Amino acid sequence: MSNYLVMKFGGTSVGSSERIGEVAKRVVRQVKKHGDKVVVVVSAMSGETNRLIELARKVAGDGYKAREYHQLVTAGEQVSVALTAMAIEREGLPAQSLLAHQIPIKTNTVFGQNLISEIPVDKLKSLLDRGIVPVVAGFQGVNDSLEYTTLGRGGSDTTAVAVAAALDSCRCVILTDVDGVYTALPSICKKARKLKALTYEEMLELASSGAKVLQTRSVSLASKFKVPTLVCSSFSDAAGTEIVEEYEGMEDAVVSGITCRTDEAKITLRNLPDQPGVAARIFKVLGDAEVVVDMIVQSEGSSGRAAISFTCAQEFSKVAYDAMLKLIQQEMSESSIELDTNIAKLSVVGEGMRTHAGVAYKVFEVLGEEGINVDMITTSEIKISVAIEEKYSELAVRVLHERFIERPES
Ligand code: ASP
Ligand code: MG
Repeated sequence: MSNYLVMKFGGTSVGSSERIGEVAKRVVRQVKKHGDKVVVVVSAMSGETNRLIELARKVAGDGYKAREYHQLVTAGEQVSVALTAMAIEREGLPAQSLLAHQIPIKTNTVFGQNLISEIPVDKLKSLLDRGIVPVVAGFQGVNDSLEYTTLGRGGSDTTAVAVAAALDSCRCVILTDVDGVYTALPSICKKARKLKALTYEEMLELASSGAKVLQTRSVSLASKFKVPTLVCSSFSDAAGTEIVEEYEGMEDAVVSGITCRTDEAKITLRNLPDQPGVAARIFKVLGDAEVVVDMIVQSEGSSGRAAISFTCAQEFSKVAYDAMLKLIQQEMSESSIELDTNIAKLSVVGEGMRTHAGVAYKVFEVLGEEGINVDMITTSEIKISVAIEEKYSELAVRVLHERFIERPES
């Protein structure tokens, strides 16, 4: 077993010169105490990426080219890697900052997203073998034409896991401003508690359903390459949450976590012809408009008419609405369309659902007792998601948490 370790520090952890100093001390401690070969990955200093995007808007509205956007926003990480490398050297270990093209972290563009295609590790290994700490810029990639790309907001998590996957049997620690993954957002639910461990699949479902601790893509990568990942605080030594393939007792609790997201919108098409091919036509148009659809519900047709509702990210709801409006005007003139942005998607997630029955019934019962109407439903083997009115979202999280996590035996 090699002792490679990737330590990733988020924006808050490198948010000031003092904090960068603390990061350096922590890295040096890890290397000296445990003899680990540490690769550091950092995000931009907190607020920096937003500041750069805001500057672009001021200068060019929405009219700037993708190339210039990537060129601009990668600057945040260029600053933080250099400062972190300097701070580590000051603490007594040689360090070298590396930007994406200096490794290189190669990306391909697939469906408008930059996905990592390759990370050669010879340079990292050669630095490590010479006792030098590589400090890698998160978020940045480079394409075949040597242009900068980025891995999406929060993409430094993905950089960290991808670097760990590229090195042999390497662990990954994500050091952040929270001390782990909680059963629900502690700001909404006072009784939320920190989880010791989660499976990759649980974390993936939680991340994609609104838990903001890790970028969803980093969890997919960790799962695919079986990278043992730990989420913990960069400000304390408290034990964090381990994300692993299996953990002891993983099916004992039915529900491991409850999340809620309010950044989706619902579009409903009514009075549609209840005929084969209509749904295909609708979702083809949405696909062509590059709208990623999340939940879908079709109501039973009556007198030859039917209704379809679907949700998508609020940021794409205008594009989706316009595409649908055009479609019904041109091809389904008797149908109508409605856009609702006041929805929340609530998800309960747990490996235990594979072996416990009646979870859906309990979710509906708890919500029903509070007078909360369930609008749409989707499920996977380990998740149940429902769409409800946004104003009930916090209440719904609390009552589901009480039912499934605080008194699971009831
Ligand atoms: N700096 C980038 C962002 O703010 C990437 C990251 O922080 O992970 O999205
Ligand atoms: Mg982050």
